Amino acid sequence: MHKVTLIPGDGIGPEVINSCVSVIKATGVRIKFERVDAGASVLEREGTPLPEIVLESIRRNRVALKGPITTPVGSGFRSVNVALRQKLDLYACIRPARSFEGIPSRYRNIDLIVVRENTQGLYSGIERYRNKEKTEAEAIRLITKSACERIIKFAFDYASKEGRKKVTAIHKANILKFTDGIFLEVARDVAENYPEIEFEDRIVDNMCMQLVTKPENYEILVTTNLFGDIISDLCAGLVGGLGVAPGANIGDNIAVFEPVHGSAPKYAGKDRANPTATILSGVMMLKHLGEEKYAGMILDSLSRVLKEGKVLTYDLGGSAKTSEFTEYLISEIFSEDK
Ligand code: NAD
Repeated sequence: MHKVTLIPGDGIGPEVINSCVSVIKATGVRIKFERVDAGASVLEREGTPLPEIVLESIRRNRVALKGPITTPVGSGFRSVNVALRQKLDLYACIRPARSFEGIPSRYRNIDLIVVRENTQGLYSGIERYRNKEKTEAEAIRLITKSACERIIKFAFDYASKEGRKKVTAIHKANILKFTDGIFLEVARDVAENYPEIEFEDRIVDNMCMQLVTKPENYEILVTTNLFGDIISDLCAGLVGGLGVAPGANIGDNIAVFEPVHGSAPKYAGKDRANPTATILSGVMMLKHLGEEKYAGMILDSLSRVLKEGKVLTYDLGGSAKTSEFTEYLISEIFSEDK
């Protein structure tokens, strides 16, 4: 029996997490979920949005399934998502963007994976005002050679494991000569140890243009924290939006699975959010746990439901509620008529 920490999160988090857990449980896979709470909803009760019990549970179980957590803009508490990744040293963020038949999108046959460095860069949390009037501020973009080495090595190892042929490193080393200079130099060095995988690099602005004009030319994209955050939303847009974009945060011993999207407060409690991104994150989790059969069961049924297009949430042009989509997907898992 696997034990997995479950963090429902804020906003639409509890709804999409409930849906994912119902689908996983319906397959019959032997998983026990240990629920703990983090985020804006626990701040008042616990005095912190990230209680120690949450970290203890994840460290103990080594695998977690997490909903999105709200981060106040401008002021208020620091991002719980960033804190979790840094405290648990979940240095690699994997965000696949894959086309599914039936999902409305401008593109077809996209199969990209963004590998984002998750602990440093402009998310290092080193930011301050430069004067009393608070009219000037600065943030430090921390980049170390060791962190670049492990994320780039991770991207190449992941490419080997997934049978991918090409890794593209994304940077701005023409302007950020020291920080991205280190990243690019390390990428070129590490690439030499993987002669069977093609390596190339792109400057981030050009990369954005290339991704919307020729996305089929790319397979695995590896980059620093902020660029990875932005590029992964761009890639989600190529395949139908945030409602279908899953993700995983991976460290040496711990993995936390979560959708790319945020807490979408506008839709919280309305039973309207698309749970697909979270369900696909659950599929990634099942594969990580070695439960390929159950991952395949869910993925096959989900692909059929999306292709059929009869029961879809609002973001994909349908009118189904989160709960209706979930029930339909579960019925499809057990449908004899495949
Ligand atoms: P968001 O991802 O919550 O929403 C962006 C847009 O996508 C909205 O129009 C929303 O309605 C839509 N959307 C997102 N998920 C959807 C789903 N499952 N189904 C249908 N539509 C969906 O981004 P935001 O509005 O910029 O952020 C809201 C909050 O979430 C902020 O506090 C932000 O900090 C937080 N956030 C958290 C995470 C995380 O927990 N990992 C990630 C991103 C943003």
